[in-house]
Amino acid sequence: MANLDEALDALTAQAPGSCQLREDRGQGAYVDARRAIEICNACRYCEGFCAVFPAMTLRREFRDSDLDYLANLCHNCRGCFFSCQYAPPHEFGINVPKVFAELRTESYAKYAWPQPLAGLFRRNGTILSLATILAVTLILILTMALSDPAAFWGANDRSGSFYAVIPWEIMVAVAGASFGFAILALIISGFRFWRETGGGSFAQAGPLGKAAGDVLTLRNLGGGGEGCNDIDETYSSWRRIFHHFLFYGFALCFAATCVATVYDHFLGLIAPYAFLSWPVQLGFWGGIGMMIGTVGLAWVKIAADPGPAAPSVVGADFALLMLLFLTAFTGLVLLGLRATPAMGILLAVHLGTVLTLFVFAPYSKMVHGLYRSLALLRNAREQRRTSDAAAAP
Ligand code: SF4
Ligand code: SF4
Repeated sequence: MANLDEALDALTAQAPGSCQLREDRGQGAYVDARRAIEICNACRYCEGFCAVFPAMTLRREFRDSDLDYLANLCHNCRGCFFSCQYAPPHEFGINVPKVFAELRTESYAKYAWPQPLAGLFRRNGTILSLATILAVTLILILTMALSDPAAFWGANDRSGSFYAVIPWEIMVAVAGASFGFAILALIISGFRFWRETGGGSFAQAGPLGKAAGDVLTLRNLGGGGEGCNDIDETYSSWRRIFHHFLFYGFALCFAATCVATVYDHFLGLIAPYAFLSWPVQLGFWGGIGMMIGTVGLAWVKIAADPGPAAPSVVGADFALLMLLFLTAFTGLVLLGLRATPAMGILLAVHLGTVLTLFVFAPYSKMVHGLYRSLALLRNAREQRRTSDAAAAP
């Protein structure tokens, strides 16, 4: 593990001045967040609301990296806004969910790898929307230009018909390169966040079980059992429920891809597969889950009281929800119409959305899952240290 730490340290070392966003430290979102947190740390009314406030009380001073950690530990449940006696229109204007949402976007850019691509977090909604349109259009034009017209416009769903439209080698090369790059960029970005926010050595990364439970159940969106202030001052669990639909739907779709890879490479079974096969069933129910989740989360955002929201992140949130919805929707339409002459077009459109999702995974709000998971892991370590210290004679 020590060698792993050293290797990642070397890999992620930055040339002096190469991280443009670090020069912004102590400005903008950090100033607002530090001011709010210092008032909260004196007030402590919200101590039992979530993991953020107990973590806050362990500190007297807040470095930028502490604020990055706390902002990513926040699940944006909005409870502290609706309970706060210092929220607007009070002259203190405390709005923790808003300042943390702005700071999270800053932290995504700050820890992004490679740094020149960190700029993609600026005007992220516009960039993601344009990239989706561009990728879909490009793949559609290339596929129409390069594939055999008989295969592209032919109406059949026999084994191998997908690869007659887009050759297997090209599909694997493009998907493998984009997915591999996304994974590498996410690992390095995550490691930079972990190291710079004081996560410590991976050799002492436990307790993993507690952190994994918090991630998989979204415990911090439970609001102590009654739910969160998703829409307004009343409590609900809509956001948690729709997030579960999206997360587990995405996981099922990923599992479908993995199983299809095993079918293809190890069992010699070539796509497209029968409706009742494992890859199609996993993808079908995963796609349904993703559509329910994305539509539901968009509805929560539209219906929610705008008071605790950060207007600067709304575009990026909706653009990612739209891309995730399109990925699921185009996959399901392809499944439904794969035996018709529309198959070639639908295959190209679906692959365009999947490719955009892969390429932009490290440069969109998709990274919030990574940073929040690492923040929860660090928080579980802190809590264990604190309880061990309290129990010590
Ligand atoms: S959000 Fe408001 S009520 Fe809650 S701890 Fe901060 S200052 Fe106090
Ligand atoms: S918005 Fe919710 S999760 Fe975030 S700091 Fe406030 S109470 Fe905690």
